[in-house]
Amino acid sequence: MIAIGPDMNGLPPLEQSDPRANQPIRGIISDLDGVAYRGERPIPDSVEAFSIWHARGVPYAFVTNNSTKSAAQFAAKLAGMGIAASAPQVFNTISAVEELLRQRWAPGTPVFAIGEAPLLGTLEEAGYRLTGTDAEVVILGFDSDLSYAKLRTAVRAALAGATIIATNPDVLTPVHDGYDPCVGVLTAAVTAAVPNAIPIVVGKPRPFMIEQALAYIGATRAETVMIGDQVATDVIAGQRAGLRSVLLAGDIPFNSVAGVVPDRIISSVLDLVDSVPADEVEVS
Ligand SMILES: [Mg+2]
Repeated sequence: MIAIGPDMNGLPPLEQSDPRANQPIRGIISDLDGVAYRGERPIPDSVEAFSIWHARGVPYAFVTNNSTKSAAQFAAKLAGMGIAASAPQVFNTISAVEELLRQRWAPGTPVFAIGEAPLLGTLEEAGYRLTGTDAEVVILGFDSDLSYAKLRTAVRAALAGATIIATNPDVLTPVHDGYDPCVGVLTAAVTAAVPNAIPIVVGKPRPFMIEQALAYIGATRAETVMIGDQVATDVIAGQRAGLRSVLLAGDIPFNSVAGVVPDRIISSVLDLVDSVPADEVEVS
């Protein structure tokens, strides 16, 4: 077992145990914040690892619960840090909400959304009618301009029977000087007011985005890993999708989850590079 960072719950140290842990990897799905970068700072080992995989033609994709940027904006951020990425390689809760709406509601459906410009713009471009009245669907996303008026509109729509979709379940999001309240807090407020409104959550630990990313990279579940820095979201989402879960454990505290064991624990993404068979990968 490798040394891992402090656990905020006081649970016993995690151990990797899966016999598949060191088997070859032919597809990579990765979290963004905490794996590719931390805030605005790239993680050098990760930049190097993805550069090697890019050069070898190993398919990879990224999944994030963050809904404050579009896929294209995340791809541009990665490219600016030296990780080759294009918009179709990034799956965030905005694209996941859009896909869920497409699957279940026709364009033109009235939708009330709490969120920032990338989310609202995507919904409009997808043909949904953004409205504060008669909404059939309420979408709860991260909004740094959250107000009482927005909360009231969401609660009234929920009381009238609207379906509630939450971009992600996180109650806290890490920032440079601590933690900020996240979408889970907003969802808790709405469901406190309307207990029979059961939200649909699209972000990790739900496997929805992982399934989207897996379809994109085209590798099998057995050959694909999900890399993340959080057990409660990344590891669980990867395991629910049937992938090998890899926890990047550094010196940043994280929450253990009782009964959840990552398939592999690493201290650097470079630790995975040798698990990807260079000679067997088709270089595109
Ligand atoms: Mg993370």
